[in-house]
Amino acid sequence: MMNRIYLDHAATTPVSAPVLEAMIPFFNSCWGNASSVYGTGREARKAVEKARRQVAEAIGAEPREILFTGCGSESDNLAVKGTAFALKEKGRHIITTAIEHPAVLNTCRWLEKQEFEVTYINPDKEGYIAPEKILSAVREDTILISMMAANNEIGTIEPVAEVGTIAREKGICFHTDAVQAAGAVPINVNEWKADLLSISAHKFYGPKGVGALYVRHGTHIDSLIHGGEQERGLRAGTENVPGIVGLGTAIEAANKDLKQNAGRMACLRDRLINTILREISGTKLNGPREGRLPNNCNISFDRIDGEALLLRLDLAGIAASSGSACTAGSQEISHVLKAIGLTELEAKGSLRLTTGTGNTEAEIDETVTVIHEIVNDLRSLFHG
Ligand SMILES: *Cc1c(COP(=O)(O)O)cnc(C)c1O
Repeated sequence: MMNRIYLDHAATTPVSAPVLEAMIPFFNSCWGNASSVYGTGREARKAVEKARRQVAEAIGAEPREILFTGCGSESDNLAVKGTAFALKEKGRHIITTAIEHPAVLNTCRWLEKQEFEVTYINPDKEGYIAPEKILSAVREDTILISMMAANNEIGTIEPVAEVGTIAREKGICFHTDAVQAAGAVPINVNEWKADLLSISAHKFYGPKGVGALYVRHGTHIDSLIHGGEQERGLRAGTENVPGIVGLGTAIEAANKDLKQNAGRMACLRDRLINTILREISGTKLNGPREGRLPNNCNISFDRIDGEALLLRLDLAGIAASSGSACTAGSQEISHVLKAIGLTELEAKGSLRLTTGTGNTEAEIDETVTVIHEIVNDLRSLFHG
């Protein structure tokens, strides 16, 4: 059954019509291998290189600095492990944050088993990572700082440029997971002083299964997938031409419409947050009021089980998320909500609603009404 109202754009977005249209020829007419020398192959190569320019343009990079990958998680793995392996003779210390996406967090945990040392910086109550905390964690043997540009659960926008400056001054490689930021906030790898930056197409109306990693010219990383010489030998495997074309088209569109979309999203987000906080008692916003992703609303409901709320919302045709999609289904509470100091009950009573370009004010209002009814119902069930 399809949901009538989709409010989980942080988990994934639909492929937009122009993106789909751009991709189709690379499935059924121009389906050549981009490494082949004959006509069809050359057409595919041309399309891949055009997408590389589109991505580079959108983030202020040079085309040769863009590598295509299989997803945002792969970009994060390649950035973190790739740096760790390339620089292990120089040092074995990595700094990251306690609120990273599992693609960074679990990569770091795995590296700890390979004799790397990792410092996990804690955020404040709103999920903000203070640059001074990063600075004071820097050691002689620190080889990498990895901090996300914006948090996928509570929407906090992080001080990337400040941390990038610290990393640059200390001569440490700086990676930022911008998967959630792309399409929502302007990205410029030079202003951010990023050496490595991850994005994923399906978070900004592109297809699933394709991502990119920006690798600043002169930055050394090891490859994780060995084989052919694709992507400058850093990511072997025949290129996903339709996916790459989709990524290029999607990021160009997202960048062009960024201001307008972000403004519209922020209106819908504020309408959601304000109405819920005003009309439903025992509610609290998680994450900051300002400096928040334009489409993110994360709220804790007193005396409510978030999973129950989610299931009831689904029955009413509304798609949302409790905590993060990666923790959904498991009983463990979100590491992000825990890191900002929520109790287990508060974390379990949390709901994430993330708006997208297709949402309307009427949908927002209906969603709040439905949430209100469900919350009253669930609370009366438990408390008579
Ligand atoms: C979605 C997401 C990822 C993972 O991207 P995939 O393409 O789904 O692997 C990584 N980091 C953040 C912040 C995300 O929101």
